[in-house]
Amino acid sequence: MGERAFRVEQILPWLHQRGTTDFAAMTNIGKALAARLAECATVAAPEMASEQRSEDGTRKWVLRLADGNAIETVFIPEAERNTLCISSQVGCALDCAFCATARQGFNRNLTAAEIVGQVWFAEHRLRAERNAPDRVISNVVFMGMGEPLLNLKEVGPAIRILLDDLGYGLSRRRVTVSTAGVVPAIDRLKEAAPVSLAVSLHAPDDGLRDRLVPLNRKYPIAELLAACRRYVGTDARRRVTFEYAMLAGVNDAPEQARALARLLRTVPAKVNLIPFNPFPGTSFERSADAVIDAFRDILLASGLVAVTRRTRGDSIRAACGQLAGVVKERSRRVVPIHAS
Ligand code: SAH
Repeated sequence: MGERAFRVEQILPWLHQRGTTDFAAMTNIGKALAARLAECATVAAPEMASEQRSEDGTRKWVLRLADGNAIETVFIPEAERNTLCISSQVGCALDCAFCATARQGFNRNLTAAEIVGQVWFAEHRLRAERNAPDRVISNVVFMGMGEPLLNLKEVGPAIRILLDDLGYGLSRRRVTVSTAGVVPAIDRLKEAAPVSLAVSLHAPDDGLRDRLVPLNRKYPIAELLAACRRYVGTDARRRVTFEYAMLAGVNDAPEQARALARLLRTVPAKVNLIPFNPFPGTSFERSADAVIDAFRDILLASGLVAVTRRTRGDSIRAACGQLAGVVKERSRRVVPIHAS
C-alpha cells in the first residue's frame, strides 16, 4: 500500500466513524501530518440553523451552508431501521407540480462534502445525545431536496463514502437514490455505484405524467422503464421501487391502478403509494384512505408488491415533498427539458 492510501485509511475512520474534527486528536497519524492537514483543511459539517421534532420521533434539521443557502435533512426512526433522508441540491430545477421543493427554484448542486456532511452531522449528533457509541443511522435515502441524478458528479463520491467500510459501511441495499427519471444518469449510476433505485412515477400514462413530472417530456415512461430494466439487469434479487403520490381525483382512479399494474408487468417492481402531503399554496389534495386502499388492492391483486407509505413528520413539514430549505437567488428553472 502506498503512503497516500495508508494515510487515507488512517484518517477516514477518525472523520466518519468517530466524528473527530481536530486533526491533532488523530493520534496515529503523527504530529507533522496533523499540522500539515490543519493548515490546508478543515473538518466541518453544515451548521444547524434549526431543529424540529414531531411526535412520531421524526426530526427535521435545517442546515446552513457556507454560502448562506440552507437545506433540509430528515431523520426517520423506525423499529427495524433508522433512515436519514438527505438533500442533493439547493432547491430543485425539475418543477414537479405537486412538490414544495419545486416552488423554491434551483440554486446549485451540493458538493460531495455537503452531502456526506448531512450524514456526518446527524449521525454524530444523535450518537452524542444517546450517549452511546453505537451506530444510529442504518439507511440513507436521497429523497430530500433536489434531483440526485442531475448531480451524479458529487452524489457518486458521496455514495462511495457511505458504502466504504472506513466511512459509514452501509450496504448497497441500504442506500437508495430516488430519481424523477433522468434516464442516461440511471445507467451511469449503475456504473458508479449500483445502490437501490427508486423512481418517482406518479402516473400510469405519458399524458398525465407530462403534467405532473415535466421531465417526462424529455424521458417518457417507456424509456424510463427500459432504463429500470437495464439497472436491475439479471440480478433476480433486485427490484426498483416506484413512488406514486396519491392525488385526489388526479391519479387515484381504479382504472389508473389497472393501467399502472399493466405498465409494471415488465419490470421487477415494488410500488410505494405516498399519500399526498399538502403544503401552502398547493391546489392538490390527498386521496381518501379508502381510495388509497382500493388502489393498493388492485395492484396487489395483479401480483405487484405494493405498500402505502405511512406519512411521517407531517406536523413539522418533514414529509415527502414538503422540504423547502432556504434557497437564495433562485435561478429560473433551467433544466434542459425540451417539450417535443
Ligand atoms: N428528485 C428526486 C428525489 C426527491 S424524493 C425524485 O423525484 O425522486 C421525494 C419524493 O416525494 C419523490 O417521489 C416525490 O415525487 C415525492 N413527493 C414530492 N412532493 C410530494 C408531496 N407533496 N406529497 C407526497 N410525495 C411527494
